Amino acid sequence: MPVISVRNLTHAYDEKAALQDVSFTVRSGTCAVILGPSGSGKSTLLRCIAGLEAQKEGQVLFDGSDVSALSPSQRKIAMVFQSAALFAYTKIKDNIGYGLRKLGWSKEECRQMVYEAAEKLHIENLLERYPHAASGGERQRASIARALVRKPDILLLDEPFSSLDARLSEELQQEVIRLQKETGMTMIMVTHDQSEAVNMADQVILLHEGKIQSAGSPKDLYENPPNLFTALFLGTERLNVIPFESAMFAKLKSVYGFGDEVRTAALRPSALLVSEEGELNGTVISVHEGYEEREAAVLCEDMQLLVRTHATMKSSERVNLKIREGFLYLFKEDGASVKLKPVV
Ligand code: ADP
Ligand code: MG
Repeated sequence: MPVISVRNLTHAYDEKAALQDVSFTVRSGTCAVILGPSGSGKSTLLRCIAGLEAQKEGQVLFDGSDVSALSPSQRKIAMVFQSAALFAYTKIKDNIGYGLRKLGWSKEECRQMVYEAAEKLHIENLLERYPHAASGGERQRASIARALVRKPDILLLDEPFSSLDARLSEELQQEVIRLQKETGMTMIMVTHDQSEAVNMADQVILLHEGKIQSAGSPKDLYENPPNLFTALFLGTERLNVIPFESAMFAKLKSVYGFGDEVRTAALRPSALLVSEEGELNGTVISVHEGYEEREAAVLCEDMQLLVRTHATMKSSERVNLKIREGFLYLFKEDGASVKLKPVV
């Protein structure tokens, strides 16, 4: 299956930059997720890879050969979009098999291929229905089946789950990733939802304003964010951002002795552990009970820190907090991460 390389890709709409010098490689048979807020250039990037948009500069290579001049059909990719673009007056089986006959397959071969693709997505009982008689999730399954029926080497998906409810979305995420592993396709998916990236990606490419902010495995980027944007974007918890001017910052600096280049510190709520020997102490302001854990706001110095914990906590109680080793994030003025030197 092809290795996909994007080299120095730049794109603009009417002089307005949409992609700036974007480069990355997707290994053969892996799933890369392009993640970023709305308007960050994700769809533009995917459309350039598909050949639906011609980049201004740079190259797209499949297995080392430049496909920039090839049309989408010549690139032999399959694509899935946010809303299932099915033909309303065509049965689901004919939507899935659309265009197959033109490729020279016999009627019986087409029937077989459509059935197999539908079976993979568990919609073989819907083949005789029209799209309006299927649910949103089922229609999206049909559009994924339509992409898979030709057994593509490359599958590109643009926010394929964003119109589905959370449970349905998670179910389909798991199935798509299972199919990707089973077939060994090289896959690129676009999403704004970091939880989808964690569930699916071998590699995350995080975009902001048309530039790559970071790239790597979801776990690695979450645990060692190379910059503040990455730390803020990944994770389900709200990050505690501690500005330079605060007394809390001064306290951290006195305990950890980091350098003057550090302008912002940040702590994930789950990186704050309630512990007798904690170096920070504060007063519990409020507690929000969850199913398994609770989230508490703790006033430390001049800041309310969000703490996620299994420990019991009561309002107005004094607590000591310890920072999980390796989880104090420090950033320079430009947002780049600074590594804390280990204490000797
Ligand atoms: P995303 O998919 O991350 O939301 P897009 O790639 O769709 O972002 O858009 C990136 C930027 O390019 C945005 O500022 C958007 O307004 C602009 N843009 C996208 N498509 C067009 C277009 N066809 N014409 C003009 N501007 C566009
Ligand atoms: Mg988009």
